[in-house]
Amino acid sequence: MNQNIAIDGPAGAGKSTIAKLVAAALGSIYVDTGAMYRALAVYFLKCGLKPDDTAGIIASLPGAVVSIRYEDGAQKVILNGEDVTPVLRTEETGNMASITSAIPEVRAHLLALQQSLAREQAVVMDGRDIGTIVLPDAQTKIFLTASSAVRAKRRYDELVAKGETPDLAVIEKDIIERDQRDMNRETAPLRQAEDAVLVDSSDLSIDEVTNEILRIFYKNNGILIAKSAGFCFGVRRAVNMVRDCIDSAKRPVYTLGPIIHNELVVQEFENAGVITLRDESELSEVKGGTVVVRSHGVAENVKNEILATGADLADATCPFVAKIHEIVARESGDGKQIVIIGDPSHPEVLGTIGWSSSPCIVISTKEEAEAFSTPADSRLCIVGQTTFHLEKFKEYVEIINKKGYDNVVLNTICHATQSRQEEAKALAAQVDIMLVAGSRTSSNTRKLFEICKERCKDTYYIQSPADLNPIHFPSDRCVGITAGASAPNTLIQEVSQYVRRTKL
Ligand code: C5P
Repeated sequence: MNQNIAIDGPAGAGKSTIAKLVAAALGSIYVDTGAMYRALAVYFLKCGLKPDDTAGIIASLPGAVVSIRYEDGAQKVILNGEDVTPVLRTEETGNMASITSAIPEVRAHLLALQQSLAREQAVVMDGRDIGTIVLPDAQTKIFLTASSAVRAKRRYDELVAKGETPDLAVIEKDIIERDQRDMNRETAPLRQAEDAVLVDSSDLSIDEVTNEILRIFYKNNGILIAKSAGFCFGVRRAVNMVRDCIDSAKRPVYTLGPIIHNELVVQEFENAGVITLRDESELSEVKGGTVVVRSHGVAENVKNEILATGADLADATCPFVAKIHEIVARESGDGKQIVIIGDPSHPEVLGTIGWSSSPCIVISTKEEAEAFSTPADSRLCIVGQTTFHLEKFKEYVEIINKKGYDNVVLNTICHATQSRQEEAKALAAQVDIMLVAGSRTSSNTRKLFEICKERCKDTYYIQSPADLNPIHFPSDRCVGITAGASAPNTLIQEVSQYVRRTKL
């Protein structure tokens, strides 16, 4: 099956950055066709030709031999034997390319090269006419765009980072002019192929756009990846905080407990010198430096113990968990009995208990909810562990409600967990084989696994790619993939890649 991906779109939509990342994730070759037009532009400029000298440009074409070479996976554009890659991305070259690429003879000069590259290997090719003319049979077609204001701002930031002092309004005007030329030319105008998927990158990060395109590609291969799979906001924030600490905080850098429930990520940090303390009892080993509190949070007294060691404290407590700490401190201070629906041994729950001024009751099963009793005049405040199973939370609350206590219920299960569980539920019901990626120590991953198993009997727990070996993926079966909040993107990509390769 043709595994090529065609990405078209206007200038500055981020095509080359994204296409490179997509190609790297898939082990495909990235082909930047804009660079080929730029190489011809370099040639025309060297010949002293003016952009409006169409006849001269056409006459000069036989003297321009453009070819492509790959060095460490990066595309090098060779013009008449010389690597011109370093001089392609100037404004002058870009303008010349934009004008001369409208000439049919110029396009014809590059078409055979572009098509032959895609015949030889699986490619991710970007340009203006890839899905419409160059590779009309590409299996996956994307039209990647962004508003002209966003594209101009990206270009502006790029130039500022290079130490230049550009004018934002001039850049935007230039971008709009190029769009007009690309869209209105007679030959190979820029337009969305009928079977292309529109991706607007205006409000998305580079990772989000890359993942979206990979999702579209995998879907075309019978592999459905949940949008919500992988790092949640709190985990990403914690992981980034450790990365920042490695770069700039006082050393050594410690994390109080593994930073996330994922051995691969913890190992990566330990390799970079981060010391993982098993628990508070190991705080006595801290010798200055920085202690990172992970997203699960800790009890208030533990924060004080960290500061007492003389180390700096980097607090990566997830804001949704910090909110529960606030509620528990306030409501227990007001004399309420705190009931936490969650796993009594989970670090988040243990930390939360530490914010209550009176003992908390933790309920983790239906039986415990049924057996729950407290003096009749108690006032209760019921909260949930952020990653608890939503349906079970509701069920246990319902059971307690029937007991007639004066209670307030705060659904503190975080939105990311809820939508991840709902998406997993829908996905598992729709596919033949379901894969749930993440560590067995991750509570939210275990819950996802349970949810999926109820709806798809062929559900597998994937801690590492090695767990995929015994599974058979017939080509006519649809495979769903989701992952817990602490599963790194690399694991999701490895799993998806494995399934695609073995499904062919
Ligand atoms: O994408 P990039 O800006 O490097 O492309 C340079 C110019 O080449 C663009 O302004 C566009 O007009 C032209 N081009 C094209 N068809 C392609 C790729 C680029 O006409 N497939």
